[in-house]
Amino acid sequence: MSAPASPDRPAGDDIVHALRSGNRAAIARAITTVESGGPGAAEVSRAIRPHLGRARVVGITGAPGVGKSTLAGVLIAALRRRGSSVGVVAVDPSSPVSGGAILGDRVRMTAHGDDEGVFIRSLASGGRSGGLSLATARVVDVMDAAGFDYVLIETVGAGQSEIEVAEVADVTVVVSAPGLGDDIQAMKAGLLEIADVLVVNKADDPVAAVTVRQLTGMLRLRQDARREIPVVKTVASRSEGIEELADVIEKKLTKFDEAERDERRRHRVRKLIAAAAGERLRRTLERPGMAGLDELCDEVSEGRLDVNEAARQVLRRNDWHHD
Ligand code: GDP
Repeated sequence: MSAPASPDRPAGDDIVHALRSGNRAAIARAITTVESGGPGAAEVSRAIRPHLGRARVVGITGAPGVGKSTLAGVLIAALRRRGSSVGVVAVDPSSPVSGGAILGDRVRMTAHGDDEGVFIRSLASGGRSGGLSLATARVVDVMDAAGFDYVLIETVGAGQSEIEVAEVADVTVVVSAPGLGDDIQAMKAGLLEIADVLVVNKADDPVAAVTVRQLTGMLRLRQDARREIPVVKTVASRSEGIEELADVIEKKLTKFDEAERDERRRHRVRKLIAAAAGERLRRTLERPGMAGLDELCDEVSEGRLDVNEAARQVLRRNDWHHD
């Protein structure tokens, strides 16, 4: 147990000390605190700020069933063999349960269950939207401050979270597999946009070669010479292609020069601010009794006011926006 907080020994120091000594209960507690978003969350965020920016953050996303979970499991093992510690945030926007319950019975959990160098935490949105990337970023920060070399963000469910992980990750791995619906057509256009690395998993299926060709063709059409996107074939269930995937991810991470890293960080923070601002605005508009809001809604629904103009007016109304 850490000593209780006192005026000359603030609680924030205790949190940081416990986190950095690898105390798993402290990591779990800090995550719960930042997830809740209350006053304690701000204190943890402030305390860990000087210790951020070391972890390499890798997003793993793609449609359900392509093998993301299996892939994450063997990738963790590969990174551990390379001497790296790994924190995992599994983001499930469809589940109302949080705190590890979703993944508790999953096979890969038990595979790494006794490993001090691996910490897995699931994050459920419970129907919350918009703020998911913000919540994910906070959990990633705690793992970063706790000293994990890698933080993997894996999407468990389907939906917007697939795109949102890219807002938090340094490198986003988009996983597909052959034989899922119309193959590549099944991959949402947005997913290809966020990919830094493409994985075609289930390469034990002969159709995988077709999927790789289709993907490579699509990438060529994009003609985005600035961003080279490698396509890696894997058989996650047999741990094949995983060393190559780990190599490609490492290379992507080291290839960012300082300027690009700064730009990505800024881009990420801009999106986080936009998400927070959007959330704040939503709360404002849902608050009952806002003077003039009913009238504004009526004007829009009766066709007297364009919805974009209404949005502009809402943004201009400073008196609506304090807490
Ligand atoms: P997720 O929903 O994307 O997380 O997918 P899972 O990791 O749960 O995998 C879905 C199914 O595909 C499971 O039955 C896995 O055993 C299977 N699977 C995963 N990787 C491979 C692979 O490389 N080849 C084959 N044939 N099956 C795989």
